[in-house]
Amino acid sequence: MKIKKKRNALRQSLAVFRYSGRAIGLVWNTSRFLTIILATLTLAAGLLPAAIAYLGKLIVDAVVLASQSDGGSFVNISRPLLYVGLEAIAVALLAGCQRGLSICQSLLRVLLGQKVNVLILEKALTLDLRQFEDSEFYDKLTNARREASVRPLSLVTRTFGLVQSGLSLITYGALLVNFSVWAVIVLILAAMPAFIAETKFAGQAFRLFSWRAPETRQQHYIENLLAREDFATEVKLYQLGEMLLSRYHNIFNQLYGEDRNLTLRRGLWGYLLSLVSTAAFYIAYAWIVVETVLGRISLGDMTMYLIVFRQGQSTFSSALTSIGGMYEDNLYLSNLYDFLEEEVPQPWGQATIGINPQDGIRFENVSFTYPGSSRPALRNISLHLKPGEKLAIVGENGSGKTTLIKLLTRLYTPDSGRIFLDGLDLQEWDVDVLRRRIGVIFQNFVRYQFTVGENIGIGDVEHIEDQIRWQNAAQKGMAQPFIEQLPEDFRTQLGRWFKGGQELSGGQWQKIALARAFMRNRADILVLDEPTSAMDAQAEFDIFNHFRSLTQEQMVFLISHRFSTVRMADKIAVIENGEVVEQGTHEELLKNQGRYAKLFLLQAAGYK
Ligand code: ADP
Repeated sequence: MKIKKKRNALRQSLAVFRYSGRAIGLVWNTSRFLTIILATLTLAAGLLPAAIAYLGKLIVDAVVLASQSDGGSFVNISRPLLYVGLEAIAVALLAGCQRGLSICQSLLRVLLGQKVNVLILEKALTLDLRQFEDSEFYDKLTNARREASVRPLSLVTRTFGLVQSGLSLITYGALLVNFSVWAVIVLILAAMPAFIAETKFAGQAFRLFSWRAPETRQQHYIENLLAREDFATEVKLYQLGEMLLSRYHNIFNQLYGEDRNLTLRRGLWGYLLSLVSTAAFYIAYAWIVVETVLGRISLGDMTMYLIVFRQGQSTFSSALTSIGGMYEDNLYLSNLYDFLEEEVPQPWGQATIGINPQDGIRFENVSFTYPGSSRPALRNISLHLKPGEKLAIVGENGSGKTTLIKLLTRLYTPDSGRIFLDGLDLQEWDVDVLRRRIGVIFQNFVRYQFTVGENIGIGDVEHIEDQIRWQNAAQKGMAQPFIEQLPEDFRTQLGRWFKGGQELSGGQWQKIALARAFMRNRADILVLDEPTSAMDAQAEFDIFNHFRSLTQEQMVFLISHRFSTVRMADKIAVIENGEVVEQGTHEELLKNQGRYAKLFLLQAAGYK
């Protein structure tokens, strides 16, 4: 039992090296050349200090010898001078190694930061929407990105630094063995408590940091709210500043309290235990002085031991510091690798054409519940849309309209039931081919801080720079007139983040988004989630007047709260609490006098 406990404790202490190998592997893959140089210089920088100490001894011994003989002759002076020269060379070499190490590290920092960032971003591209919405996973992503440019190198530097200190300490030990094996043993034993305490406290820090990822993320979120332009209006007008700042303080105080306790305990224990090793050092030192006075060892030996002790002490404490820091780096790397190794379900569909292109889109008994949610967002949805048909979806907020679109675009997979396109289950389609067939505007479409043209061109990346298509798409989206008023037309930078950027109104942005969906002119499925909600009545009227001619060939899924637009669709589906409660044409539904008729009359009354 006791042995097992000890083994566990040992394993925990050694966990500090767990990721060192992987970090070195990462550096190796980043630049073999620099890694080899780094390793060589580390080796040299580890061994040279002992050599310098030994040369110091040779100098003193040679000087003593020379002064005891006749003195003054060239031969007597040449030997000590030779050693002095050698020591100067060794010191110069050591300085060269140290400079070389720091150059290598600077270069590697940049390369490695880029490499890790690219790894993270490449991984992010393969993720599911489901993973982006998982807060724990999001923590990992945020943490992985935040320190990507410093942590991996820091771990490598510390690992190499530790190797270097270790080598120095071993060679110092080898020099000391000549004096007494016991002295070496006592010194090692005296160093142990400080070493163990350091790894233990570093382990606690490791756990403390891993627990608090959510708080740190909250803090970052508040920073964003306070410092980003898109939030500034609301923060000012609702006078949220003080409230947010005080939340920020509270989180900080809580984190700081934990930090302070650990730092104090760590500092105090670290100091007390290192006193033990310092005491041992100086007892051994006194012993050496006594031996020298008694004439049992030479003055040169004493000089060497003096250097060995001084430097040994400082090398030892820098090794301890390295170990303390390594835990934090390890925490980062464990997080990074958790993220990079997260399993991503690979889309397996391969089909590029359907079996029955005349069938269009068919939902069969589709149900779906969001992960972590207890209530289904959609239940037993069945719909059918033939090529060229337009379907309007009507329903209260939260009834499941957007979710239906997310299933159609394969951002999520139904829990049960199936969705067919051209007679083939969506899952069997090659996801890229499928997505190429769909043009979509979500309510929360992205306002890219790019030029107007690019904002539209993004609808079809292969033609992102095609100006003729920008213009066509802009015309269809009713964006052309206001784009012509902008200072640089389609080349105008949008958003406030970059120089010369113009901000647009909500309705103007929506026209850009609509143009973006029309940019995808090979898409035969158009999905519009409240595409005109921010536009003025005239623009909306114009768009829907042209709507049929603009989308003649396309199947359209239109979500809208405006019945003036909804009524133009071939079919209307009314969704309530995730279920389709009514389906039919505008006339049929009015005749039914059900939910739709009630809502329609309600809105119509408002306009009278
Ligand atoms: P609508 O578009 O009709 O306003 P949604 O389809 O967005 O409604 O939402 C349907 C239901 O699913 C709502 O109850 C909503 O709370 C829930 N929901 C929407 N998105 C998510 C999500 N990402 N995770 C969990 N629940 C969600």
